[in-house]
Amino acid sequence: MAKRRAAGEGAAPAPASTPRPRTEEAGDADEEETPTHFWIEPDAGSLDCAICLMPFEAEIYMCTNGHAACAPCCLRINRKCWGCGEPIGDVRCRPLENLLADMCTQCTFRKFGCCESVRYTERRAHEEACPRAPYGCPLGGGCSYRGLLLYQHLVDDHADAVSHLRTTGGSTKVTVRKREPFRVLVQPGTSRVYLLLNGGDVLGGRSLSLVCLGPRPQGDGVEISYKMEVRGGEPGALAVKGTAPCVRNLEGFQAKKFVFVPDADWGSSGTVTVSVRVC
Ligand SMILES: [Zn+2]
Ligand SMILES: [Zn+2]
Ligand SMILES: [Zn+2]
Ligand SMILES: [Zn+2]
Repeated sequence: MAKRRAAGEGAAPAPASTPRPRTEEAGDADEEETPTHFWIEPDAGSLDCAICLMPFEAEIYMCTNGHAACAPCCLRINRKCWGCGEPIGDVRCRPLENLLADMCTQCTFRKFGCCESVRYTERRAHEEACPRAPYGCPLGGGCSYRGLLLYQHLVDDHADAVSHLRTTGGSTKVTVRKREPFRVLVQPGTSRVYLLLNGGDVLGGRSLSLVCLGPRPQGDGVEISYKMEVRGGEPGALAVKGTAPCVRNLEGFQAKKFVFVPDADWGSSGTVTVSVRVC
């Protein structure tokens, strides 16, 4: 299938026929003769915002000198153009918006097995939720792992740094140190990876919460229930239960539910024991 690169100087002439997004079934009853979509290579960086380097979405703004920026970046730079200092954020760049609205591209994670074709302006949203998006190793510290088999990677290469959750029913005791920002939990059977987050954003103690890095449960509305209880406190006092959110990117993440563990409860060892149950 021929691909047409529409980025760069000088628009390509309208093709006689353009490929349809590949997610659509070939031979749809409503197949049209008129071209509706242009293709663009996923790595055509010329259509990314110059500030956040992400593909432009629906709203694009420009300054009087024609420098463009996405809507969130206009706020980030206090509506002062990154290129010339002129105001930016009032004037939309409609021709570029219209052009991008007609463009399709492939998911960046094609090499990890995603065959989705998406509207260029919806690529960012797709990739944030793409089931084939690779995971980075949460343990960092010189580990550069990036791939889809995070569970296996953690079990094989960081055996000492992860806690194993029970797969059925019972709870697992996990020791959390006051200073560590998170503890990695893996669950054999489901091959899921969780982080027990230990947040320092509350006064007079720490907040413990649970997120699932993946894989997401299959099916609409299927959720992961969990219960966490800090041992040693009054029964039921330091406990939380709910559904674990699936989070790929923890930047800016704020847990809706957490257990607050006051400074006094961390003891002389600076640790607490948490019993975690996930089902
Ligand atoms: Zn931007
Ligand atoms: Zn400018
Ligand atoms: Zn994808
Ligand atoms: Zn690693």
